[in-house]
Amino acid sequence: MKYCRFETEAGPQYGKIADFAGNLWIERLLPPFEEDPLSTKPTKAFTGAFEPVPLLSAKLLAPVVPSKIVCIGRNYREHAAELGNEPPKEPLVFLKAPSSVIAPEEPIQIPSQSQRVDFEGELAIVIGRRASKIGTDEPVAFYIRGYTIVNDVTARDLQKSDGQWWRAKGFDSFCPIGPIVTDEIDPEAGITVETRLNGELRQQGNTRDFIFPIDVLLRHITAAMTLYPGDVIPTGTPAGVSPMQPGDSVEVAIDGIGVLRNPVL
Ligand code: MG
Repeated sequence: MKYCRFETEAGPQYGKIADFAGNLWIERLLPPFEEDPLSTKPTKAFTGAFEPVPLLSAKLLAPVVPSKIVCIGRNYREHAAELGNEPPKEPLVFLKAPSSVIAPEEPIQIPSQSQRVDFEGELAIVIGRRASKIGTDEPVAFYIRGYTIVNDVTARDLQKSDGQWWRAKGFDSFCPIGPIVTDEIDPEAGITVETRLNGELRQQGNTRDFIFPIDVLLRHITAAMTLYPGDVIPTGTPAGVSPMQPGDSVEVAIDGIGVLRNPVL
């Protein structure tokens, strides 16, 4: 299933996406997965008939409302090398603040405290069931609702100087998510992740090149921390990270999920 979260007159709603003759439409409404605790417009029960709308004309919101964003760093060898790091011996894990989440097309804001803000295009896992201490013989697919795209925006200079990455990864607007969630793709089979800056290809990686595969990541995280439905796990970025400037437009594209585009302010 593919779904999105989008704005309606009745507030945010979740919608099931269907393909009609090659075009994606929001076909019908779904019961809410997670509520946004910060929304000024709580989800109301939708009354009346829902007329399908083309996905392209909907005002999309971030498709998930995570209680936490648990990120994987340096999960592609070439990216570790480009920043002068050795490939990690066990998964490198850090947190990104839920308050940094923004929707597709919402602007990434360059903070005055940083001189270098990079994009990091990433495939992200969306958790579907409460997951704690996943056993070695247990299939992790049971806990996965689907996949989406995250741009793990990073203040590269503060990442080095702060030590802790709370600001470097956590400024407001540093976590674009979207455009949709799908369970119809298989990262183990190999999925291409591409990032374009102002239309120019800057990153092209394949999930076949993960240092740590998804099952290892989820077992490692849940050995320490319970994951809740809606939690998001960005799986690391391929080589090619580079800075963005105000006025830029950044797009992360994954076949089967779509294009996550954000302007830079
Ligand atoms: Mg990253």
